[in-house]
Amino acid sequence: MLKGSCLRDAVRYAVDGAIEEMHHRHCSRCRKSHGAAFSTFGRVPTAAFRVTRDADAIRRYRSSAQVERAFCEACGSNLTFRFDPLPDAVWVAIGTLDDDPGLRPQGHIFAASIAPWHAITDTLPQYDEYPPRA
Ligand SMILES: [Zn+2]
Repeated sequence: MLKGSCLRDAVRYAVDGAIEEMHHRHCSRCRKSHGAAFSTFGRVPTAAFRVTRDADAIRRYRSSAQVERAFCEACGSNLTFRFDPLPDAVWVAIGTLDDDPGLRPQGHIFAASIAPWHAITDTLPQYDEYPPRA
């Protein structure tokens, strides 16, 4: 089991199982919501994700037609996003984990949207948008 929490340690969540995939995301929406060059999200089964404390503090924002992001109302920590066409998956903001997820980032996605002030300096695969589905 993996545990995570928001910045003020009020909202807590648990993932029963392993992160299935993990990518650095360079899309402009992730950049905005994280206030950083990119975000890092890991996919887990919806059934494996549960909020264990302060669920009432979670606010949701639909950042595009099919994507809903969840964050702490008090400290602003980005927690998860969901993609409507894939209701069986939830993406967890890896930076909010309190445990080592085990898995390491597998690549850069939406690399075509990279911030002009940021450069990728590792050798992970880069994809303009989504990676090809395994
Ligand atoms: Zn918080």
